[in-house]
Amino acid sequence: MNPRQRLFLIALTLLVLATCSHGIMRPIKIGAIFHKGDEDHMSTFLKAISETKYEHLAPAFEFIPVTKYIDANTDSFKAATATCELLEEGVAAIFGPASPHTRGIVASIAARYEIPHIEYVWRENEGLRAEAEEDKNPSSMTINTFPDSEMVSQAIADIVDSMQWQGFVAIYENDDGLSRIQKALTLKRKKDNPITIRQLGNGPDYRPMLKEIRSLSICNVIIDVEPKNIINVLQQAKEIKLLADYCNFVITYLDASKLPISEIRNGTAANITGLSIRENDDIEGIDWIDSAILYDAVFLLHKAMETLNSRNIDNEESIMIDPVPLSCDENQKYQAGPNITSLMRELSKMGKITGIMNIDEYGRRRDFNIRILDFRPNVVQTAFWDVNGLHLIRNEKELENYLYKSIQEKTFKISTREGEPYVIEVTDGSTRGVLIDQKRYEGYCIDLIELIAKHLGFKYTFELIPGPYGSYDPKTKSWNGLIRRLLDRESDLAICDLTITFARESAVDFTMPFMNLGISILFSKPEEKEPNLFSFLSPLSADVWIYMATAYLAVSIMLFVQARMAPGEWDNPHPCNADPEELENNFDLKNSLWLTIGSLMQQGSDILPKAPSIRMLASMWWFFTLIMISSYTANLAAFLTVDKMDTPIKGVEDLAKQTKIKYGSIDGGSTAAFFRDSNYSTYKRMYAAMNEARPSVFTKDNKEGVDRVMKSKRQYAFLIESTTLEYQMERNCEIEKIGGLIDNKGYGIALPRNSPYRTPINGAILMLGEKGILQQLKKKWWQEKGGGLCIKDDADKSVSTSELGLANVGGVFLVLMCGCGASLIIAIFEFLWNIRKVAVREKITPREALMAELKFAVNIWAVTKPVKIAKSSSGASSTEGGLGRAASTARSIVGSFLRLDMLDKFDNSNNRSNDRKIN
Ligand code: GLU
Repeated sequence: MNPRQRLFLIALTLLVLATCSHGIMRPIKIGAIFHKGDEDHMSTFLKAISETKYEHLAPAFEFIPVTKYIDANTDSFKAATATCELLEEGVAAIFGPASPHTRGIVASIAARYEIPHIEYVWRENEGLRAEAEEDKNPSSMTINTFPDSEMVSQAIADIVDSMQWQGFVAIYENDDGLSRIQKALTLKRKKDNPITIRQLGNGPDYRPMLKEIRSLSICNVIIDVEPKNIINVLQQAKEIKLLADYCNFVITYLDASKLPISEIRNGTAANITGLSIRENDDIEGIDWIDSAILYDAVFLLHKAMETLNSRNIDNEESIMIDPVPLSCDENQKYQAGPNITSLMRELSKMGKITGIMNIDEYGRRRDFNIRILDFRPNVVQTAFWDVNGLHLIRNEKELENYLYKSIQEKTFKISTREGEPYVIEVTDGSTRGVLIDQKRYEGYCIDLIELIAKHLGFKYTFELIPGPYGSYDPKTKSWNGLIRRLLDRESDLAICDLTITFARESAVDFTMPFMNLGISILFSKPEEKEPNLFSFLSPLSADVWIYMATAYLAVSIMLFVQARMAPGEWDNPHPCNADPEELENNFDLKNSLWLTIGSLMQQGSDILPKAPSIRMLASMWWFFTLIMISSYTANLAAFLTVDKMDTPIKGVEDLAKQTKIKYGSIDGGSTAAFFRDSNYSTYKRMYAAMNEARPSVFTKDNKEGVDRVMKSKRQYAFLIESTTLEYQMERNCEIEKIGGLIDNKGYGIALPRNSPYRTPINGAILMLGEKGILQQLKKKWWQEKGGGLCIKDDADKSVSTSELGLANVGGVFLVLMCGCGASLIIAIFEFLWNIRKVAVREKITPREALMAELKFAVNIWAVTKPVKIAKSSSGASSTEGGLGRAASTARSIVGSFLRLDMLDKFDNSNNRSNDRKIN
């Protein structure tokens, strides 16, 4: 016999054996109660019943299905009748019904007649335990093969907890659903993580409710609806963009792997987490979890009965397994019923489809395994849940690889905002930069995205958002600007000079900062004043100058008067004459004035006091001049350069203190928000002042702010971020930075909450920073592209600050010139006066005297002057006749300002004194 023939013989023998054994199989009726609409359960039941005969090689029993149909909303009476009918038929067990309204009566009849009662749908275990306890018998006849409700609820709560969501929305359809998610709803969470619960209304259009959820801007959703509605809800959520990128969904249905979730997820980057207790997908035609559990339950019953039968034979026991028809009117019981249920509990280990199914003494399935599935384009298991809790099984590396792969397949939609030098329109017609709405744009942010995209290998498109950067309106409880776009999931990234703030961080995610900055004050430089010729007078005020002049005169007069009074100041005019008739005082008015002016000018004088009172007075005057002149000198340098130091505010405190200079910031930006939300009283006050100012001090953008500062002639200061200020100062020499930074923060790229791309983009930013590329990029856009205009200007200024020009000290020259002029005029007067005297004294004409004096004056070799100058120079010119002529000439010269009779008086007196001196 060849092997083929041998195989055929074995198969034939088995077939004969099987046929024979089937032939001796005892028929056992198994009852089931279904509701209208439970066709799927019914067909699964029939399928399972018919397949039980292939479970064993020589099965003892052949299950015969006996089914009853009742209305789901029927009263318990009809359910009781159906149960009694099944008893009368002589069933060994009853499956169902599934409705919570009818199952109770069936369970209690089954318990009374000790017929095993098997449930296969969700049932709140509180009821089960209560029933068992009521019977004082933990081994009630009811077994529920559906996973225990409390544990399923715990599993859902553990999964939600592991998501670390900041608030979520739960959608449920009925009470069962609500009890399933109950534990998740009571999870410990922060106060500001809200939970919103919505009941799925009557379908089929759920869009209004889903739209309402979308408007909450919460993108974490638990869906617990009837299995047949799940796909519909997801589909509609996708249509209204609730099922969008970066949103998280948890579907609590325990057989998610059988739903076409991946197809619906296609085209979005939503995270959908599903649960599954299905371990085996080989059995066809069983598409819903209840059916799968029913299928497993039928086999469990079959196994229990077969086991009981074999124990009967082995132990020679005589438990009556074959059921007899019972009547609800009599008090008979099914003898093998309790044995069957306890064997079902004992044997429950592995379900054919749903895996581990340990049933406890209360008939609850307390041991099962839930697989946690992540619906990426292809479904992956990320964790599993069992009695010990949640276990993650995907490693970080795997997730990372998946992430990097998905980035490369993605085209990022990036929202941005125009503003120099971050995003600037290309106006010279070249093809630099990127195309946005038919126009080309370039700038720091465009370059940065290009570098990041190159590093991570993603594609991108930009969109320009015209509005504000993004601020929160507490009245409407909504965000605007770029942040709104992210919240609406209209874009994947937002980049510009977008500051990372606490408030924004609570709505969206930010990458690491790519630039650091702080708020600073932008103000226009003081207008350079024309240097003043008389700025040397500035160190002392006009009052002080007047007081000094007055003090000078007063002290001089006091000196004069006191010197006359002081005996020590009266000297012998001729020291050789021991007994003079007259004494002389040095301090006449002229000398007094000379001494005081000499010391005021720090020059001193050759006439010095001797009397103690005068010395006292003089020293006090010297003290006064010492302090005054030192103060003057100390102030002088500052006043000569006064044009460079005229800044009315030195920092933010100065700005807050005054009301003359208005100040403002960008409307709806982080700077305005900083002052608005600050707890520091100065900043609060500043925000109140900004808010009340009319016309408004807020601007649309930085450019408008800078323009306003320049036009306002130092009446407006702009609170601007230091980076933009530096950029402007490179190009605009009329503005300056006042004080230091008011705070410290950074610009980051914003992403929708929970965006998986944050980590890779962070990595790219770090890499660019460490390689110095960010620094280069800043240099390119700040300095190389049109910057550096004010550096030369500043250098010139710093050189010139150490020098004083003629314009600064010209006044001193002017005073010198005027003084010289005045002294010349006085000299001429003195000269003429002397001529008059000489003419009279030497009895020559004034003309002769003038000529003689002039001749002598220009003869610079003559170092001594003869007393009789006319004679010595002209010899015989001095005659009486000549004298008369000279006198008349002198008269004609000085006559214009001296009367002749006055001259005569002078003549006489001079003659007298000259005579005395000559003698
Ligand atoms: N960078 C700021 C923001 O993100 C805008 C400029 C400002 O407020 O000074 O809101």
